[in-house]
Amino acid sequence: MTRSVLAIGAHIGDMDLTAGPTLAKLVLEGASATIVALTPGERGHPRLTPAEYKKQKIAEGTAFAEAIGADFLVLDHSDGFLPSTDDVALQLAQIIREKQPDTIITHWKHSIHRDHEHTAVLAERARFLAGLPMDATLPRHGVRSFLHAENWEDMEGFTPSLYVPISDEAFYRWVSAIRHQAFARGETYGFRYIDYYTALMTTRGCLAGYPRACAFHTNQSPEVTKLAGP
Ligand SMILES: [Zn+2]
Repeated sequence: MTRSVLAIGAHIGDMDLTAGPTLAKLVLEGASATIVALTPGERGHPRLTPAEYKKQKIAEGTAFAEAIGADFLVLDHSDGFLPSTDDVALQLAQIIREKQPDTIITHWKHSIHRDHEHTAVLAERARFLAGLPMDATLPRHGVRSFLHAENWEDMEGFTPSLYVPISDEAFYRWVSAIRHQAFARGETYGFRYIDYYTALMTTRGCLAGYPRACAFHTNQSPEVTKLAGP
């Protein structure tokens, strides 16, 4: 049972798109969910300045999380320059100790974006550091499950090995929440994110034997799980 889930993305919107339907499902089942973005993703708009877009991204990420019933945190690293260092991993480890998730969802480790690759490494490192005895104010915390979300930008070597059915209620909650994000609507570089992830949920649902599903890479043999909340 998943009682608490932490989704760690490089940019605001990454986990909203890829893990969002699963987070919505788990929240509807009574779990708590937190989305953390390591950078605002402020350089993702071809016409707005980074300062303008940062403000917009934070407002969009906050509204999305609120709409699906998740908490939202954003760290202030620079979009495109996210360092893969122990300092950043320790920031994340602190969040893991505070939130005590039993499941972490993050990027797959190969991506066309270096920030995404660094986030996958940082999340894994943070999971390790959160479980180490250290001079920290919060007790250490072990995270049971570690899942990589399916993202069209992170597909090299991504092998789906866990399918999570997405109920109609969770799907519609996600789709009405994600519409608040300009990039997801295709207003930045024109990629039809919402169409892509909606179609992908149908495709993965066909393979899992449900109307809709999300797929994750887990380093384990393939399985279909309901990844149920408490
Ligand atoms: Zn991203």
